[in-house]
Amino acid sequence: MEKIAYVNGSFVPLSEAKVSVLDRGFLFADGIYEVAAVLDGKLIDNASHLARLERSVGEIRLELPETIARIQEIQKELVARNELVNGMVYLEVTRGADTGRDFAFPKGVRPTLVMFTSEKDIVGAPSAKTGINVITVPDIRWERRDIKSVALLAQVLAKQAAAEAGAGEAWMIQDGKVTEGGSSSAFILTQDDVIVTRQNGSEILPGCTRKAVVALAEERQLRVEERAFSIEEALAAKEAFITSASVFVQAVVAIDGKKVGNGKPGPMADRLREIYVEFAKATAV
Ligand code: PLP
Repeated sequence: MEKIAYVNGSFVPLSEAKVSVLDRGFLFADGIYEVAAVLDGKLIDNASHLARLERSVGEIRLELPETIARIQEIQKELVARNELVNGMVYLEVTRGADTGRDFAFPKGVRPTLVMFTSEKDIVGAPSAKTGINVITVPDIRWERRDIKSVALLAQVLAKQAAAEAGAGEAWMIQDGKVTEGGSSSAFILTQDDVIVTRQNGSEILPGCTRKAVVALAEERQLRVEERAFSIEEALAAKEAFITSASVFVQAVVAIDGKKVGNGKPGPMADRLREIYVEFAKATAV
């Protein structure tokens, strides 16, 4: 069955889903995206993703072409049309296709809204059992990483370097501290059992999974500190892990070829993963 995509009001076969070469997403990366997980045909933590979408578009003064309620309806319809059980819905909104290539915002141009789905067994992913290796790279991104912009070239290069090194993620380093992963939030568990993840701010994307995991951990009286940490601290930690909509909670077992803890996924990462999956299933829409 050919997959169905959504493009500006129409559901079309993926191979026919097209936008103009003048689209500002293509020309200037003048757009915002979101990725929400799907489990058992339902959207996970979607209100959080849509709230971040609204915030991101607000920060770049891009008006959504549909209401948030309608966007969720479209996401659901796309999941249904693709008979998607487990995977992700990708959503992108750009400042539309103008008649030329002027940098300043065009007037009277309708934003482009595109969505498509992909299949992934997030809960049953083999890497959840084995853990992943990460490499470190300098964080060369712009200064507004809190905006979920489609300008992802720095992350493309970081994740390509990771792939070439046989690693599952790249941790980006600025001023000696980890900012975040190429497409995930970074965590460690210290020797005295404190869960540490960098505080939100313009240096990182406010991860929806990060937010939920921090709240779920605190509800269970686990100690959480939101602050920056270094690679030295991560290598001296009991555990390390990442969170994102496409992996949930994923243990990190080595950084730049050096073991974290005993080099196996630790009990805290496993526990937070279970807790998150339970939360995801209980709140799916
Ligand atoms: N940080 C970056 C740079 C990301 O690209 C992502 C997800 O793509 C995340 C963190 C994790 O965010 P979320 O948990 O909302 O998927």
